[in-house]
Amino acid sequence: MPTVTEPLPILILGGGLAGTCLAWHLRRRGVAFLVVDRGEESTSSKVAAGLVTPVTGMRLNLSWRFDELHPEALAFYRGIERELGGMFYHETPIVRLLRDKKAAELWARRVMQPEILPHLRSVDGTLVDEAVFVADHGGFEMKNSGWLDTAAFLQASRRFFSQAGCWLTADVPQDALCANGLGVTWQGRAFSWVIFCTGWQAARHPWFDWVPFQSAQGTVLTLAADTGGERRIINKGCWLLPAGDGLVRAGPTYDLNFAARPDTPGAEAIASLEAKLRRLFLRPYEVLRQQTGVRPIIQGRQALMGRHPALPRVAFLNGLGSKGVLRAPWMARHLLEHLLDGCPLEDHLDLRANL
Ligand SMILES: Cc1cc2nc3c(=O)[nH]c(=O)nc-3n(C[C@H](O)[C@H](O)[C@H](O)COP(=O)(O)OP(=O)(O)OC[C@H]3O[C@@H](n4cnc5c(N)ncnc54)[C@H](O)[C@@H]3O)c2cc1C
Repeated sequence: MPTVTEPLPILILGGGLAGTCLAWHLRRRGVAFLVVDRGEESTSSKVAAGLVTPVTGMRLNLSWRFDELHPEALAFYRGIERELGGMFYHETPIVRLLRDKKAAELWARRVMQPEILPHLRSVDGTLVDEAVFVADHGGFEMKNSGWLDTAAFLQASRRFFSQAGCWLTADVPQDALCANGLGVTWQGRAFSWVIFCTGWQAARHPWFDWVPFQSAQGTVLTLAADTGGERRIINKGCWLLPAGDGLVRAGPTYDLNFAARPDTPGAEAIASLEAKLRRLFLRPYEVLRQQTGVRPIIQGRQALMGRHPALPRVAFLNGLGSKGVLRAPWMARHLLEHLLDGCPLEDHLDLRANL
């Protein structure tokens, strides 16, 4: 009689937003997996403010594929909230204040664009309390925006998967994996695939050191401050996120020269953030905490995923940049449809097409 064998589980290396979203998709598909994560205190996913912003950047453009990614992300996080009985995603308006006359002129043109309009909310009266915020060039309020409490989402997911026996806190050193054409072994256990979701640290791994990472360190401050009853997120060069109980998150910094001190923010970056805060926020504040992580960014790409060009059972999901909350659910689904169902990846997202 032939022996019936269970298919081998998938090994997910790294339990940040990328690895955790993959894990949830695999659970829904009924595919066995194991997430192995170091359990570091400060990672990009843990310190992120988790903002989802439709109109972004200096150019005031609609965020890449927003109308496709946003409904998928919202449904994804709401589904997990139902399963875990918590609330992680907070739909919150974001007010963007324009920094100067040039930005106001650009906005006057952008606001006419049909793709922008559905994401704007009309405001009766003044946009913000000008005794609290500097709004000398006007601005606009967005809807379809919000923030994911990433730390709470990751902690609840980790607890759930640990109880289910498919999450392990451990470091996987570079030489601990053995990959061949059929699968991967780690600590004597066999897996069908290993998917690297190790964030910016993938740049140091010999299998991925050719990927053009240009990661950026970022710091978020927690302030004690009175925002005058403002509960929306306010953005002008930096953002302020009222988090309740007189606590406000503020950030971020953006620092490309962090290699010698990945866990410590540069003094210049913090000074620049505080200067931006003073141009936005008129009330006194006290800095209670600073948290630092490194955003995984790949030059010229919205993200990269897919199979390693030489190791057929080694895959990769990385480069989520500053938009991990919005992009991770969509990217993770596409990667699994590629690996498990054979669906092609779009060239600009495919690791193999970007050698
Ligand atoms: C200051 C700051 C603010 C941000 N704000 C936002 C925001 O407002 N909105 C938004 O959408 N995004 C934001 N981001 C970006 C967002 O955090 C990232 O896009 C996202 O978290 C990347 O997730 P990841 O899983 O790819 O990487 P990571 O979060 O870095 O996760 C990688 C994981 O792999 C683990 N790991 C690495 N190597 C190993 C190994 N060898 N063995 C075991 N485990 C390993 C690490 O410990 C880590 O847990 C921000 C980032 C920063 C730094």
